[in-house]
Amino acid sequence: MICLGIESTAHTFGIGIVDDKGNILANEKDSYTTESGGMIPSEASEHHVEACDKVLANALNKAKIKLQHVDLISFSQSPGLGQALRIGAFFSRSLASQLGKPIVGVNHAIAHLEIGRLRTKAKDPILLYASGANTQVIAYHNRKYRVFGETLDIGVGNFLDSFARHLGLGFPGGPKIYELSLHGKKYIPIPYVVKGMDVSFGGILTNVTRKYDSGKFSKEDLAYSIQETVFAMLVEVSERALAHTRKNELVLGGGVACNLRLKEMAKKMCGDRNAKCYIPENEFLVDNGAMIAWLGILKFKSSGPQKIEECIIKPYERTDDVDVTWYG
Ligand code: AMP
Ligand code: MG
Repeated sequence: MICLGIESTAHTFGIGIVDDKGNILANEKDSYTTESGGMIPSEASEHHVEACDKVLANALNKAKIKLQHVDLISFSQSPGLGQALRIGAFFSRSLASQLGKPIVGVNHAIAHLEIGRLRTKAKDPILLYASGANTQVIAYHNRKYRVFGETLDIGVGNFLDSFARHLGLGFPGGPKIYELSLHGKKYIPIPYVVKGMDVSFGGILTNVTRKYDSGKFSKEDLAYSIQETVFAMLVEVSERALAHTRKNELVLGGGVACNLRLKEMAKKMCGDRNAKCYIPENEFLVDNGAMIAWLGILKFKSSGPQKIEECIIKPYERTDDVDVTWYG
């Protein structure tokens, strides 16, 4: 069985083609970026409209198949920006009707977790999902992916992007903060906000923005201090989730997990407690179509197709709203 999966929750329009053995035949994408300023949802949606035909052609080309060889269409149904999700859902429904093939909608956060399990062979991990809009620590228990901890306000990626925007840097800002951090020389104390198993970045953003505006601190030192602080927060709650669940595998997911310092800190924590730290390749950490295709296959095989009228977007669906029918 071959599944064509379409990702469009935010800045990336991606198409992955995956078979039911887990072979990735193609994983193509085109992402919305800016030179300065953040992401504007209506512009991201226009980007997807312009990119979709080209990304589809590239994916089919890469996989060396024709559209008729596709057995199943899947798409990111939730959670995400309504304006962006709508383009992927519309494109997927059109393809499915045109080809007369089944269609399933999947949850994007769970797709990050499942592609992590597929690529790394982790069996029953804790997922630290650190992306633009989402920051969650997730683990499977009793037919659900449960959220053990999460951000109480913005995602860690949005936090990095917002600070970068304040410095006049474009979107995505996370990689730019990383580059600056390499030139940071001094740790500047900034608030460390862990509340139980949850984290919060809104107050830290105000704090570092004011520090930068005071003119007393360099952007390099601030970037370095920000990374040391917020990644320690993420690693702390991940460690507590490992301890509480007695699981011994951590998987990283989400675009922020491309950050080398976060990878290093997560590996160190796992090493110290004899847990395994699994990190998929960067192309599967960021938003991508292959993870949507793979979860499409898992969901379809365990619970069949969805009616086309059920294939509406669910921008606010939570990770723990989804019945996990395929786990094992
Ligand atoms: P996603 O939504 O999962 O595709 O992730 C996008 C987010 O990841 C954006 O907020 C980016 O700024 C962030 N990001 C990507 N690469 C890095 C990096 N190397 N370091 C920190 N953040 C990153
Ligand atoms: Mg994501």
